[in-house]
Amino acid sequence: MTSPIWHPFTQHALMPEMTMVERGEGAYLYKPDGSRILDAISSWWVVTHGHCHQRLVEAAREQAGKLDQVIFAGHTHEPAEKLAEALVRLTPDGLDKVFFSDSGSTAVEVALKMALGYWHNIGEGQRQRIIVMEHSYHGDTIGTMSVGERGVFNQAYQPLLFDVDVIPSPLPGKEQDTVGALERILTDYQDEVAALIVEPLVLGAGGMLMYSADVLKDLKRHCEAHDVVFIADEVMTGWGRTETMFACDQAGISPDILCTSKGLTGGFIPLSATLCSDKFFDAHYSEDRAKMFFHSSSYTANPIACAVAYANTQIWADEPVAERIDQLVMTQAQHVETLDGHPRFENVRQCGTITAMDIKVNDQGYLSNIAPRLYQHFQEHGLLLRPLGNTVYVLPPYCVTPQDLNEIYHVISNAPDVLGL
Ligand SMILES: *Cc1c(COP(=O)(O)O)cnc(C)c1O
Repeated sequence: MTSPIWHPFTQHALMPEMTMVERGEGAYLYKPDGSRILDAISSWWVVTHGHCHQRLVEAAREQAGKLDQVIFAGHTHEPAEKLAEALVRLTPDGLDKVFFSDSGSTAVEVALKMALGYWHNIGEGQRQRIIVMEHSYHGDTIGTMSVGERGVFNQAYQPLLFDVDVIPSPLPGKEQDTVGALERILTDYQDEVAALIVEPLVLGAGGMLMYSADVLKDLKRHCEAHDVVFIADEVMTGWGRTETMFACDQAGISPDILCTSKGLTGGFIPLSATLCSDKFFDAHYSEDRAKMFFHSSSYTANPIACAVAYANTQIWADEPVAERIDQLVMTQAQHVETLDGHPRFENVRQCGTITAMDIKVNDQGYLSNIAPRLYQHFQEHGLLLRPLGNTVYVLPPYCVTPQDLNEIYHVISNAPDVLGL
């Protein structure tokens, strides 16, 4: 019998069999027959410390027996309160209010609504333009697709997507084009721009494209000068991925709004938070009920998810997470150096714990048929790697060992020749 399940981002006609996973531990996933798969992409960029970290398991277990779920309008609970305080402490200065939702996409939707709601409530409702970066990805809901790269992924939904202003992404050598384009839009549409939304330092789903902290700083400076809301989508980059706690830390900037999810619970359970400076809250603070922030989801600030996320902040406080990350960054750098001279790879790059490299092929792009062939090849070698087109990237949990990494790069560097690409 075939399964009734319709899987995400999966062309079932080309992938009739799903890999059954029974259990996870550290950097490994285990199949029912006991064989293991090295999770080199942290199960879609979410797992930070490794699968089934004991303290996260314990936190979930303990909270589940105490308070499973409660309406968050008009009610609160200790896990959410403790987590919110920790988040304000751990994020860049000035982010003093925390709004909870359930996924990266909803965190971004909330950010966009906060920005628009702010301008509306302070009497500048004409500020509605959103500036976005080419090749960016912010989620798969209608709103987040609107602010993301347009392409084959969202062609069918194009009629539903709202218009945005696009600036080029700051590819190496093109940084000034990005900053220049932003400056032009900000000048041309002085009082019409509401916000700029960016993925700081790494454009993830767009191909693991990386840019410098200086550019990020410049973008923030221009937004500040024009009083435009700067939204940092740190859904992927947060929680040590780029080496610092948040990518914005490397530029020494405080965004006006910050979205976090994925690593927020260590990749254990869905939860997200949108943090903002006081002015957004204040603009909605009124005796006029029409000015409240009209947003919620059923499981907003679920107590179990909050308890796990709070336990995650404690892991960061008590365990040598920063040291593990430093080690990983160094080992990754060595592999990048080795691959740099490889005749079959180009644009070998690294940002913190993430590395990416493009295989030299004629057939490029996301739908290039080399991605599924590579994926299959890696699976056969017990590796979970999911290339984006001809871009292979390694984004492992922080508990991955140097031996694991040796294995990963051994298979990657041989792949083009073994597969005859
Ligand atoms: C994954 C991702 C999202 C969407 O998060 P979901 O939890 O999948 O909805 C948004 N922004 C960025 C930068 C992401 O990497």
